Amino acid sequence: MPCYRCGARQTDPVRGASPWKRGVRQESQVLICPDCQRLHDLDLDACGACGSTALICRLGEVECRSCGAVRMARAREFACSAPPPGLSAEVEAALDRVLGRT
Ligand SMILES: [Zn+2]
Ligand SMILES: [Zn+2]
Repeated sequence: MPCYRCGARQTDPVRGASPWKRGVRQESQVLICPDCQRLHDLDLDACGACGSTALICRLGEVECRSCGAVRMARAREFACSAPPPGLSAEVEAALDRVLGRT
């Protein structure tokens, strides 16, 4: 997975832990290269409990690696199942007719 910001490819570290950082951005797991980590406009999702950006995203959940808080990712189905615009106005008009309000 390349750096989400600049597209750089991760190279294997010579030894020890990778300097690349994992984070969650708009509820997708992303990798940030060492160069981009120095920037302050990374726009990563932050934990609602402790404010840490050390999050991991998996199976519809976002887990904080700092404090362990887990929250549900905003499910995309919610957006898809929302009533189409204009429906509530139609229902309102139908109610008006039934109740004789017009
Ligand atoms: Zn980068
Ligand atoms: Zn946290």
